[in-house]
Amino acid sequence: MTISVFDLFSIGIGPSSSHTVGPMRAARTFVGGLLADGDLPRVTRIKAELFGSLGATGLGHGSDKAVLLGLEGESPEEVDTSTAESRVAGIRSSGRLRLAGLREVAWDADDLVMHRRTSLPYHPNGMTFRAYDDPGETVRERTYYSVGGGFVVDEDAAGKDRIVPDTTPVRYPFTTGAQLLAWTQETGLSVSAVMAANEQSWRTDEQIRDGLLSIWRVMQECVTRGCATGGTLPGGLKVPRRAAGLHAQLHAADDKDDPMRGIDWVNLYALAVNEENASGGRVVTAPTNGAAGIIPAVLHYLVRWTPHGSDDAVVRFLLTAGAIGLLYKENASISGAEVGCQGEVGSACSMAAGALCEVTGGTPEQVENAAEIAMEHNLGLTCDPVGGLVQIPCIERNAIAASRRSSPPGWRCTATAGTWSAWTRSSRPCARRART
Ligand code: SF4
Repeated sequence: MTISVFDLFSIGIGPSSSHTVGPMRAARTFVGGLLADGDLPRVTRIKAELFGSLGATGLGHGSDKAVLLGLEGESPEEVDTSTAESRVAGIRSSGRLRLAGLREVAWDADDLVMHRRTSLPYHPNGMTFRAYDDPGETVRERTYYSVGGGFVVDEDAAGKDRIVPDTTPVRYPFTTGAQLLAWTQETGLSVSAVMAANEQSWRTDEQIRDGLLSIWRVMQECVTRGCATGGTLPGGLKVPRRAAGLHAQLHAADDKDDPMRGIDWVNLYALAVNEENASGGRVVTAPTNGAAGIIPAVLHYLVRWTPHGSDDAVVRFLLTAGAIGLLYKENASISGAEVGCQGEVGSACSMAAGALCEVTGGTPEQVENAAEIAMEHNLGLTCDPVGGLVQIPCIERNAIAASRRSSPPGWRCTATAGTWSAWTRSSRPCARRART
């Protein structure tokens, strides 16, 4: 399977990439197949079953709402987050659902079953969709798995809704850190340049740059909204949103000489994104929704708190982060349901550390070290969201992981001649700093 940076960074909807974005994509894919094969006019009923982690914690993650919107043809990238709740309420109160936005069928609460104690064999996040005609015969049945980061795969579906793994050949293929470093040594290219060359298999340089900068714009808008929105997060925990209050405090603070000031802002950026995510807002899956705050927070730090911030640096940052994320996706997992929070927050933390290292002057070897150190300190982190909501501990976990990847202002990297925070285990004080 070939993975693009745009697979790892996609514009989506909160609160969960595997439990919200994935189910919406799967439901949309299912009705897309009905439409493409000309079966949609025959359909009079749809039933969906969610299994395993989706069945157990799907209500807290909005999986049920995501399925309804996906069946109506909505995508995570384009669904209007401001009207999503009211649309779902309308479907439930009217008992009518518009499949692919075209064919209206009856909908009943019993048509969506959440299996709390039953899992499908391939992955904890399984879904089965069935469409029926008027006599009640099955028109189509498909099973999909949401495998983390919004990625959806099918079991063995045949037909036009089949999800075929991308096997596009790339210029510098790599699936391990050793292969990636070997390419940088052979070509003299940076990690981001290797990734950029591979991206050219799908897009022009201009499209790559524009696409990544629009990802960055969505991240910035998310931080801005998060910093301006107070109140309480949805769900039964009544968790207060804190980013807006912290934002006001930091603006008012007279602490320009405080060397830890930048870290407070990094915390703020991450809190803002993850509170937006927890409330079902528009976020960038980076590489998951549960960990969506870390990379935007470190990018904001890069742009606002270091002398290295520029559009070029943002593009290189995201490409480097993508190269590192690809390694986790290929060799381990970025799914919290599958490998715990080390797969979400750990991967994001590692991607951010390596990317910040490259754009602040690190060599490919230092990038690899930074990414490895960051992951090391997340190994063993379990997925343990209170009440199944992506709120506690997820939001603060992002803030802490983002802070650990941003060197406090005033720290200068002695390993790379005056650049900031190019962490390496082979030189001091970088190793100690990276571990605090
Ligand atoms: S604990 Fe970690 S892996 Fe689990 S939902 Fe929260 S962010 Fe995701």
